[in-house]
Amino acid sequence: MTQLRQTVLTLLWDAGRPLGAYEIREVLSKMSGREFAAPTIYRTLDFLCEQRVAARIESRNAYVACIHPEHDHTCVFLVCELCGDTVEIENPEAEELINEDAKRLGFVVKRRVVEFSGYCAPCQQQP
Ligand SMILES: [Zn+2]
Ligand SMILES: [Zn+2]
Repeated sequence: MTQLRQTVLTLLWDAGRPLGAYEIREVLSKMSGREFAAPTIYRTLDFLCEQRVAARIESRNAYVACIHPEHDHTCVFLVCELCGDTVEIENPEAEELINEDAKRLGFVVKRRVVEFSGYCAPCQQQP
């Protein structure tokens, strides 16, 4: 993995919430004192998603690190609408059911990212 890919992945890991490409670009520029072209950042993010070490949260147009890239799975994210906190959960039983449905319909699955949006526990405590 190149230095840039590694750095971007580390940023996503440390953030614990989805980061947009422009936000990542800003942080990188601050860290390195260099400017990065937007396409460079998008290519890096695409690569990380292809490698399944990160996933794109469509509803936020942002990216998060995958918690267990070492095995093949559907990334299921719980995204808080208020603070952006994102937790990845895994449910092999549900995944199996969805896979069976797809197979039955003759559907070839390429990308598997599921998002649930709502309010995290701490945000619900806010008055
Ligand atoms: Zn995942
Ligand atoms: Zn929250």
